[in-house]
Amino acid sequence: MARGYQRDGLDITAMEMTKWMDTNYHYIVPEFTARQSFKIQSEKVFNEYTAARKILGEKAKPVLTGPVSYLLIGKEKEAGFDRIDLITSLVPVYADIIKRLQQQGAQWIQLDEPCLALDLSAKEKAAFEYAYRAIAEQVNGVKLLVATYFEGLLDNTQLAVNLPVTALHIDLVRAPEQLDEVLALMPATLQLSLGVIDGRNVWKNDYEKSLAHIHKAAAKLGSDRVIIAPSCSLLHSPIDLDGETAIDPEIKNWMAFAKQKLQEVAELKQIVAGNQALLDANKQAINSRRTSQKVHKQAVKDRVAATTDADATRKSAFPVRQQLHRERFNLPAFPTTTIGSFPQTDDIRQLRAKFKKGDLTLAQYEKAIEDATIEVIRWQEELGLDVLVHGEFERNDMVEYFGEQLDGFLFTKNGWVQSYGSRCVKPPVIFGDVSRPQDMTVRWITFAAQQTRKQMKGMLTGPVTILQWSFVRDDQPRDVTTNQIALAIRDEVVALEKAGIGIIQIDEAAIREGLPLRKAKRAHYPDWAVKAFRVTASGVQDNTQIHTHMCYSEFNDIIEHIAAMDADVITIETSRSQMELLHAFAHFDYPNEIGPGVYDIHSPRVPGKDEMVSLLTKAADLLPAQNLWVNPDCGLKTRKWPETKAALENMVQAAKAARELISVAGIA
Ligand code: GLN
Ligand code: ZN
Repeated sequence: MARGYQRDGLDITAMEMTKWMDTNYHYIVPEFTARQSFKIQSEKVFNEYTAARKILGEKAKPVLTGPVSYLLIGKEKEAGFDRIDLITSLVPVYADIIKRLQQQGAQWIQLDEPCLALDLSAKEKAAFEYAYRAIAEQVNGVKLLVATYFEGLLDNTQLAVNLPVTALHIDLVRAPEQLDEVLALMPATLQLSLGVIDGRNVWKNDYEKSLAHIHKAAAKLGSDRVIIAPSCSLLHSPIDLDGETAIDPEIKNWMAFAKQKLQEVAELKQIVAGNQALLDANKQAINSRRTSQKVHKQAVKDRVAATTDADATRKSAFPVRQQLHRERFNLPAFPTTTIGSFPQTDDIRQLRAKFKKGDLTLAQYEKAIEDATIEVIRWQEELGLDVLVHGEFERNDMVEYFGEQLDGFLFTKNGWVQSYGSRCVKPPVIFGDVSRPQDMTVRWITFAAQQTRKQMKGMLTGPVTILQWSFVRDDQPRDVTTNQIALAIRDEVVALEKAGIGIIQIDEAAIREGLPLRKAKRAHYPDWAVKAFRVTASGVQDNTQIHTHMCYSEFNDIIEHIAAMDADVITIETSRSQMELLHAFAHFDYPNEIGPGVYDIHSPRVPGKDEMVSLLTKAADLLPAQNLWVNPDCGLKTRKWPETKAALENMVQAAKAARELISVAGIA
């Protein structure tokens, strides 16, 4: 189901996978049909509970995805029904599962209902009321804990505190402001689990802050009704800081991974009971971080503070720039390009591994990367692509590569967090003010540019994406950190321009992911995210063409902000949806140039030329043809060479056909 199956005459596509709320963890999207029935098909949860019980005894607490969230995170696979209506047939199965766990000895069972902290329709709210009332009628003697996280309850507070369960968990890291209202509305017996330790980050808890919440809750409810907990599952933080022997001890003393966070839960309880020494040690660590020279660089802070609107604005408006770009680059209609990376073959990966191990000298390593770069440039020229890329062979990862060269970042040995299935990522840690000690990409981009007379696109990762895919500081707002990164990347953009690069792409693959989960909290984000991009992009002259790239996103609700980024060219994923996403751009009259991906790089399938011509025709129906670019829908890093070559050959042919078929105003 997760991987798809293509053997023995069967061809089953993998189920859709999507990100869990606003984390980088992916889940397989549950699929529902109108006459869906439910039954216990797997022993997994029971076996796991048995195993946990052997170690933990009766303290072991099974955790299940709650029934309402389970339906809400899924999707209908046929028209004509609403998946939330399935709650009546789902609840009896949940009741059976709960009863079986109870028979096995479970005293507490946790039901995760993150959707309780999202915007809910009246019908969805009613489903929560119904589900928990029905479960309460069918089971007794077991303590149910309903857990919410990643957002505050807001207008769902009344609903949440009145569910007939033993305890409610709230996330006080993401939404500390909800505590007062929750306390005010708490009915007489409900217990409250305070999520005070950040499950999404790597920093030591500030005990004083947590204690303020704990004391406030205990004063209102009595301490026997208060539970101390991490804010959410510890799935989202690395496992154990103890193994990190290479981190500067001063900084390491500010950090906590999952194992240390559990220790913190225990310590908070001891402090409440009067252990002053534990509190003092924590205060010391928190203070040392607050004042450390390793974190705080006055020059960086001053520069962010001095950033003006003018710094975030290109010199002239887009139409003026577009004219200059046409004159300077003289590209055909439907210009062709790619998103940046070419296949990272085993050979390339081994080069990096050998170099890291010391089996290759820097000179040997760089020569090998140069050779690979020259080869793809020759090949792109032969193919007839219009704007070339260098292939990103020198990069391990689009965020890590920049983090490694910026001040204020550190890297862990084993700070892995699960991304999907058995795959993990190891996000960089931003611990201090960010600055750029020297050029980061100029050496490779200029080397590549020297190999060809065609335009070579400079390739950078944007500030919001670097922020989103790192563990960030929790001692200053995210927008401040982003602005610091923005200024560093801006300097790199300017350095590339100075080195003669005329087209520069700033990837903002993750910009949509940063949008807050609750509509009520969304107002501020687009402003600072867009401004950070504009700061990054606006240090250049009008005749430099700035591109950006975004991965598949729901663009509808942020289209005006995407337009406000004012990139000269944006490339986006649209091929899977048959250009459907373009409607948002068309509807909005998106003014700048746009490259709707004409083929899906997430599959080895090679699209035919005609298929891509028909997508381009669709795109030209929706948007001005003179603004359209032709490109795949994302980087080709994860692909193999044979399918990449075949697909791009077809793509170039498709662009040629489009030039004949579709008339384009203003371009010869
Ligand atoms: N430039 C990057 C690449 O081509 C962009 C990747 C992405 O959008 N995730 O790999
Ligand atoms: Zn992408």
